[in-house]
Amino acid sequence: MEPLQQDRVKLAAQLVRKGATMLAEPCQKDGGVQVRYHGKTYCTTHDDLSSILETKEVSMDSVTADLRRVLLTKLNESLAQLEREADGPKQEQLVTLMTKYFDLLQKLPSKT
Ligand SMILES: [Zn+2]
Repeated sequence: MEPLQQDRVKLAAQLVRKGATMLAEPCQKDGGVQVRYHGKTYCTTHDDLSSILETKEVSMDSVTADLRRVLLTKLNESLAQLEREADGPKQEQLVTLMTKYFDLLQKLPSKT
């Protein structure tokens, strides 16, 4: 269902409060008012503004935490694979991969 025009105006106002800027040029598709938010241009008529507002703020802390979790999981999986692997070249491949995971883990900023 298409949101009402009134809701769109409200959403656009919300975006502006969050730091979006209204653009002078209208949308090329439908002539709607455009806003610029976090380096991207959105049309207040045809873009889904509510999903933009719902998007979680990305922070270095959250990305680092996710990356650490994923890398540790992968490292653990590779370790289990390595333990079972009898083939030399495959072991070498796994060790190379694990070295990369490990290096990246070491490069992550330490927990504050
Ligand atoms: Zn548009």
